[in-house]
Amino acid sequence: MTTASALAASTRSAVLDRLERETFDCVVIGGGITGAGIAREAALRGLSVALLEAEDYASGTSSRSSKLIHGGLRYLAMGDVALVRQTALERKKIYGLAPHLAEPRWLVVPARSRAGLLKLRAAIATYERLGAVEEQDRHRNWGRSELEAEEPVLERRHIAHACVYREYLTDDSRLVLATLRAAAGAGAALLNLARVDRILVEGERAAGVEACCGESGRRIRVRARCVINAAGPWVDAVRTLEDAGAPPLLHLSKGIHIVLPAARLPARNMLILNTADRRSIFVIPRHGVVYVGTTDTSYEGGHDLWPAIERDDVTYLLDTLNANLSVDPLHPDEVIAAWAGLRPLIAEPGKAPQEISRRDEVLVGPSGVVTIAGGKLTGFRPMARETLEKAAEVADLDLAPPLERLEPLPGGDFDGDLAALSGALVTEHGLSAEAADRLALCYGTEASSLASRGTEPLVPGSTILTSEIDWAVEVEGALRLEDVHYRRTRAAFYHPEAREAGVAASAERMASLLGWDDARREAEVAGVLRRLA
Ligand code: FAD
Repeated sequence: MTTASALAASTRSAVLDRLERETFDCVVIGGGITGAGIAREAALRGLSVALLEAEDYASGTSSRSSKLIHGGLRYLAMGDVALVRQTALERKKIYGLAPHLAEPRWLVVPARSRAGLLKLRAAIATYERLGAVEEQDRHRNWGRSELEAEEPVLERRHIAHACVYREYLTDDSRLVLATLRAAAGAGAALLNLARVDRILVEGERAAGVEACCGESGRRIRVRARCVINAAGPWVDAVRTLEDAGAPPLLHLSKGIHIVLPAARLPARNMLILNTADRRSIFVIPRHGVVYVGTTDTSYEGGHDLWPAIERDDVTYLLDTLNANLSVDPLHPDEVIAAWAGLRPLIAEPGKAPQEISRRDEVLVGPSGVVTIAGGKLTGFRPMARETLEKAAEVADLDLAPPLERLEPLPGGDFDGDLAALSGALVTEHGLSAEAADRLALCYGTEASSLASRGTEPLVPGSTILTSEIDWAVEVEGALRLEDVHYRRTRAAFYHPEAREAGVAASAERMASLLGWDDARREAEVAGVLRRLA
């Protein structure tokens, strides 16, 4: 199977057969960025690998992040230099793999005094040294006149300076999909809607997993020399499948983001704003909207896939905006979309979520299940290496050395010139500049073959194309309307014009591609509309 078809719904029964037939070197539980990174690295380094995802790929935390490929400046202040160095260096690597999914952007950090600016500059200079940032990408300082010209949205009575530095913006769920497609292209067997509910144990050693196909109800046994638990916020639940008494490892922390129309929050750059409780939040303009986040609060509500967004969470973000920006006060009823995710942090008793390190940890259970917990989206490649080295040790696997060369992800085989990609889409396919820019960012060099399937907008005035629904199903493994709307086109978050209006059109297209009857189509529409509300 190629990267162009391996996730397609039409290959599902062949994948189920393969999963039952083969004995794999490793089976990965969880199709977020951590599991996807492990599957790709394993397949590229010569292992046979299967991956099972309970819901849709990236349906957990890996579609609800702030979507930054970053080292996390604030972790420097926490003394996590090794973590910052590793993730800061990873920025360039991910850019090398998929320049369309690691867009370099300026991030503006306001300072209220000259002393504050000097402190900030020192921290950013250290960050840049750790991340080996090149001359042209190094930070710059803005005084009052530059602030007025470059970022007039900032409140100017108290904010007189800013330090501006480079970070990289991704699309988290699209990064997961590209990584999974790369894994499949290198031979991995992948299945979504396949929840693992049992670890197979032979002679006291984990020998595979049992799972249920959420589409057909078929139960499968997947045999493997090593079982890897990459279930993000659910790693503790999966650990209990191996050891019912396994003590919890995680402290879950909830983070929400809200989306506002760009007309009400006309930021030109990405911003960091300080909150009243001495944290900071991001303001990120993207595709004609601006999203703002995040909160960081201990979460006791179990392991929900959709943690609730409380009014207090929204007010906390809006209060910070209203205190730092020169716009008319923003109100909760102006929020057009929102998402919440759970951070799977390694518990550090007595610490508040924002004080807990974002480090990862690999541990081995009593029958040899290898669990990877914690970490960040940005660190998915080093996390994959660490996990596989442990898996190779535990199960005596023949893991080849890491690849010297960066193997681009699907769509990532270009030099980073998004303007050239976008220009070619305008010339060759007659797309508007806005639609072409968005397509280039979402699909990289694959945007052209997608546009060859048709350039009709999903709904009038939207930059989302109907052919993206076909692509989502035939190339990116979407099985349900929610998969398309939330994690492929991302209409639910970034596209107010298609958020509700695109639901029926997408469902119609999916029904014809997947053979849904009217009852199924209506149920899918109702489900997504309920979630959007
Ligand atoms: P998940 O993405 O949750 O994936 C785990 C998967 O396992 C899920 O899809 C789930 O369905 C599946 N699963 C669970 N149980 C089973 C089972 N029994 N069988 C099969 N599958 C199962 N990091 C950054 O680098 N940059 C950021 O800007 C950033 N911002 C963040 C903002 C917020 C609000 C949050 C919450 C996190 C942020 N992070 C960020 C951290 C980052 O998003 C997470 O570290 C990362 O997405 C976790 O990925 P994961 O694959 O481990 O977990």
